[in-house]
Amino acid sequence: RLTIGVLALQGDVREHLRAVAADDVTALAVRRPAELAQVDALVVPGGESTTMSNLAVAFELLEPIRARIAAGMPVYGSCAGMIMLAETVLDGRLDQRSFGGIDMVVRRNAFGRQVDSFETSLSVSGIAGEPFHAVFIRAPWVESVGPGVEVLARVEGGPADGRIVAVRQGNLLATAFHPELTGDLRVHRFFVDLVRAAR
Ligand code: GLN
Repeated sequence: RLTIGVLALQGDVREHLRAVAADDVTALAVRRPAELAQVDALVVPGGESTTMSNLAVAFELLEPIRARIAAGMPVYGSCAGMIMLAETVLDGRLDQRSFGGIDMVVRRNAFGRQVDSFETSLSVSGIAGEPFHAVFIRAPWVESVGPGVEVLARVEGGPADGRIVAVRQGNLLATAFHPELTGDLRVHRFFVDLVRAAR
């Protein structure tokens, strides 16, 4: 049996708890280091990365999560969670911290005012089936990735055509969109499979 945590400091925690729970997966809200110690893997939800950064420091989770990532714990981040997994954050607040782990440069609120929030369809490499109905809400995009990072999805068409919006580096997975909001559980299942393989 797997225990997968959802970082529950801020953001759309409930949707992710629902999306990862399964017959053989216990979903656990993580607010303190003792809870982090119980999980095999972690989901970092969408929300507001500046607030999440503050709260991670205040709840003394920033360093423990960094340490778990360094030790190989699988983590999936969506939107603000993607920002939290970036080694480098552009357009962040000056004192904004991230857990890091993925060798990428992420730009916050990258899609700009006109397409602040939008929905589009795109395919994610490694995940079979129909294209995803991807929901972006004041989302980041990935400006650039290091050599160890696999690009899994790009925006297809429109003003942001070609922008990177899903990546994987080893046990770390990130999407700029919110699959937890559409009832399409393929990204979460992909992550759970990755967690199983890591164990
Ligand atoms: N704009 C938010 C941030 O910078 C992310 C938005 C989201 O998670 N939907 O943290």
